[in-house]
Amino acid sequence: MIELSFTEVVIALGYLAAGVLFIVGLKGLTSPKTARRGNRIASIGMLVAIIIVIFDLVSHDQISSNTAWAIIGGGVLVGGAIGGYLALRVKMTDMPQLVAAFNGFGGGASALVAAEVIVSIEAAFSVEIGVTTALSLIIGSITLTGSFIAYAKLQGLIGGKPVAIPGGPATNAIIAAATVAASVFAIATGNTTGYWIATGLALVLGITAVLPIGGADMPVVISLLNSFSGLAAAMAGFTIGNQALIIGGALVGAAGLILTLDMSVAMNRSIPNILFSGFGGTVSDEEIGTKPVKRATAEDAAIALSYAERVIVVPGYGLAVAQAQYAVRDLANALEEKGVEVHYAIHPVAGRMPGHMNVLLAEADISYDLLLDLDQSNPRFGQTDVVLVIGANDVINPAAKNDENSPIYGMPILNVDEATTVIVVKRSLSPGFAGIDNPLFYEEGTMMYFADAKVALEETLSAVNQL
Ligand code: NDP
Repeated sequence: MIELSFTEVVIALGYLAAGVLFIVGLKGLTSPKTARRGNRIASIGMLVAIIIVIFDLVSHDQISSNTAWAIIGGGVLVGGAIGGYLALRVKMTDMPQLVAAFNGFGGGASALVAAEVIVSIEAAFSVEIGVTTALSLIIGSITLTGSFIAYAKLQGLIGGKPVAIPGGPATNAIIAAATVAASVFAIATGNTTGYWIATGLALVLGITAVLPIGGADMPVVISLLNSFSGLAAAMAGFTIGNQALIIGGALVGAAGLILTLDMSVAMNRSIPNILFSGFGGTVSDEEIGTKPVKRATAEDAAIALSYAERVIVVPGYGLAVAQAQYAVRDLANALEEKGVEVHYAIHPVAGRMPGHMNVLLAEADISYDLLLDLDQSNPRFGQTDVVLVIGANDVINPAAKNDENSPIYGMPILNVDEATTVIVVKRSLSPGFAGIDNPLFYEEGTMMYFADAKVALEETLSAVNQL
């Protein structure tokens, strides 16, 4: 039987408690109602993990000098202050960039842990430790540079358009193969230079792999890199024998991968298609806007909405651009006062990041109970009088059901065309992210209200109030 000292029991239980808090916190993130609490629980888990790591190090006499304490304290204070400042200041529309930056730092931190292990190596690694160290270095380095390229694209520091790299995907395949070869050499021979070559190549690979991907696909890339940052952390955990890193890293890795797969299913695109296709912009301008549409004014929209029994609002990317979440809430309140039942149908990839619409509507205090997901809303459209589409396009495009040649054929959409009347608010007939025309705009029951979403909703509200 293994005898554990009191200190070892405290450390083991501390890591277990941190792991349990991570899992309970993650469970909380599965519903908007419990998400805030989940986030807080997971951050308490992280605090417990940090305290236990320090306790663990102290009990093994690994923090002996004042300088070491100053470095730890400085790291916690400076890192915590920067994180807190950014989280408080970030605009909702800039959230993907912030997540990208956090992922990048997470990957970089794991790579640094592995690097420290290599620098302080006294005897040759076992093959197991060599493999986990190499994986932590490589995945962490790809995550670091890849995330900051994603950040720069979303922040507009470099253009969002796909940037072709010389040699295309073959170049990336060669760099990836060379990275693996350098790591195998390091693990097999114990020559640490191999690790540093692999790290340098992985840093380059992060840049060359993300540059050719279009800005609008960045949320999927960020989700994938989030998964990578978790994997890098878990590998670093195996290298230094830290259970909190292994559990936390595995959870982030799995959650990020599930989210990436969910997003690709919701767009009906494969991960390789997202990573290698430079998607979007497939239709010529002449094809769009040549057919006649029925135009609506604020008064037309007000009459249709006020005399309806059931209305479903479909928000899309344009709602976020126009920051029209408060205007839509005010209009919905006015309609509800007139006895109209109002719900919101949320497509899983409406907007530009997962949960984009949920977050925007929550900001305006719209009740979660009124939000319907794809499966809940599709059976309802047939019994709905008016669907009010606000700045959404691809997620309501019937070509996904009817046109086998459409690039979005097979993407699950909101079947708004089954409602009696559809009012679409957008500024023009310009396409959405997928770059394709939308046959819904030309249908008998569709009215196009061409205006900025916020302006249109405010004008409609004042027309509703005058009825
Ligand atoms: P779309 O990109 O299809 O369409 C948005 C529409 O909003 C545009 O047609 C634009 O038309 C309109 N718009 C822009 N600004 C305004 C404004 N100020 N006022 C009114 N309208 C405005 O958005 P959807 O939400 O329908 O679809 C999301 C797309 O993004 C999907 O193709 C999805 O696959 C993709 N995507 C989503 C991700 C996610 O995680 N959510 C990740 C990656 C991609 P106009 O210029 O005429 O106003």
